[in-house]
Amino acid sequence: MTACKKGKCLIEGCLNKKIYARGLCLTHYHMIRKLVKDGKRSWEEFEKVGMSLRPKIGKNAPQRKRFEAMAAKNNLKI
Ligand SMILES: [Zn+2]
Repeated sequence: MTACKKGKCLIEGCLNKKIYARGLCLTHYHMIRKLVKDGKRSWEEFEKVGMSLRPKIGKNAPQRKRFEAMAAKNNLKI
């Protein structure tokens, strides 16, 4: 499984063929992530209307644990 598989972004009319995460291209992923981070919307709301997919990496996935461990080691708040 690669981070950038080929496909089609969930956003209608988006021509980006590279899917970054949650069925979205990098641009749209960041667009939604910003709204979520600002507390304006939640991922669940976008999932409900088909504008995002559930993340493939769960909260307890080993990949995430390793990521969190390294972030903590480097004093990065995530
Ligand atoms: Zn897109």
